[in-house]
Amino acid sequence: MKRILVTGGAGFIGSHLCARLLNEGHEVICLDNYFTGSKANVEHLRNHPRFELVRHDVINPYIVEVDEIYNLACPASPIHYQYNPIKTVKTSVMGAINMLGLAKRVGAKILQASTSEVYGDPAVHPQHEEYWGNVNTVGVRSCYDEGKRCAETLFMDYHRQNKVRIKIVRIFNTYGPNMHPNDGRVVSNFIVQALRGEDITIYGTGQQTRSFQYVDDLIEGMTGMMNCDDSFVGPVNLGNPDEFSMLELAEKVIALTGSKSRLVYRPLPADDPRQRKPDISLAREQLNWSPKVKLDEGLTKTIEYFKGVVSGT
Ligand code: NAD
Ligand code: UDP
Repeated sequence: MKRILVTGGAGFIGSHLCARLLNEGHEVICLDNYFTGSKANVEHLRNHPRFELVRHDVINPYIVEVDEIYNLACPASPIHYQYNPIKTVKTSVMGAINMLGLAKRVGAKILQASTSEVYGDPAVHPQHEEYWGNVNTVGVRSCYDEGKRCAETLFMDYHRQNKVRIKIVRIFNTYGPNMHPNDGRVVSNFIVQALRGEDITIYGTGQQTRSFQYVDDLIEGMTGMMNCDDSFVGPVNLGNPDEFSMLELAEKVIALTGSKSRLVYRPLPADDPRQRKPDISLAREQLNWSPKVKLDEGLTKTIEYFKGVVSGT
């Protein structure tokens, strides 16, 4: 049994990770400031004897004796990370410094939840880990993209300079139960709009592409990365290489919900990447990992979850 700290543990991905780690028999400390996460996401875990929930902001130091740290604290949806962009940079950069400092002090292994956004609007397709990216340093997405890029730098420097045991995963678009209904990300938006019979908002022409990974596949990859040999630090892409345009996604959601919703077109947000698809050869080779859940199956499970959310609102 290990004692494991999960920052951002009350968020969408964090809540699934906490549940998985408890199921494996570990002690879990879930730390969150509830900016985009909620106690409701981990309500089912709160009476678990090996689970602790702590309100804390990662921009401030936190000290606890742990064996492993999963650093997930950071808003992930464009509307949330752009709400207070300075705070987003602080969360990524100061959060990384504080958690790496803790890892160094207590000798913990630490995993960073990085992102496909480090590739920006990619000029290389699909994206492999050696690609350095195409990121605007002064745009509206920069607070998130550059914050996450700087966090990767800090992780590598703590590793090289202080021998901290690190792991970096670059997560591609992930969806599933526990996403916030007003989170603004495309999968939750389309499903909620379809279930409510509201217009489905396509930004731009809808020809831009993303590759959607179901959350269970991601959790398998993240825990696999944490538990593999210390010599493999990453960064490693974790995503589903099946690529869809936003129009194709909207059509799937309409078909699976049986909705009568219409498609409406809205302006494309600034710096919105035109395409995104992971090259996952490194994860296959080093972690023996590949995603198992097809989009239709994952969407069906996510729609079931949102039916409960929508009927309760
Ligand atoms: P989320 O917004 O649901 O979860 C983030 C959690 O971090 C929330 O619970 C939030 O309250 C908490 N948080 C934010 N700022 C904090 C702070 N300063 N101190 C403490 N807690 C703080 O998002 P998510 O989708 O679960 O993403 C989790 C992590 O994975 C993030 O680091 C995100 O950048 C990364 N990621 C997610 C995706 C995706 O598609 N979901 C893709 C790439 C990377
Ligand atoms: N998008 C859309 N309609 C929405 C929300 C998002 O067409 O209601 C588009 C958005 O412009 C982007 C894609 O869907 O091209 C994915 O957006 P999301 O915010 O989920 O993630 P990210 O852009 O960070 O990959």
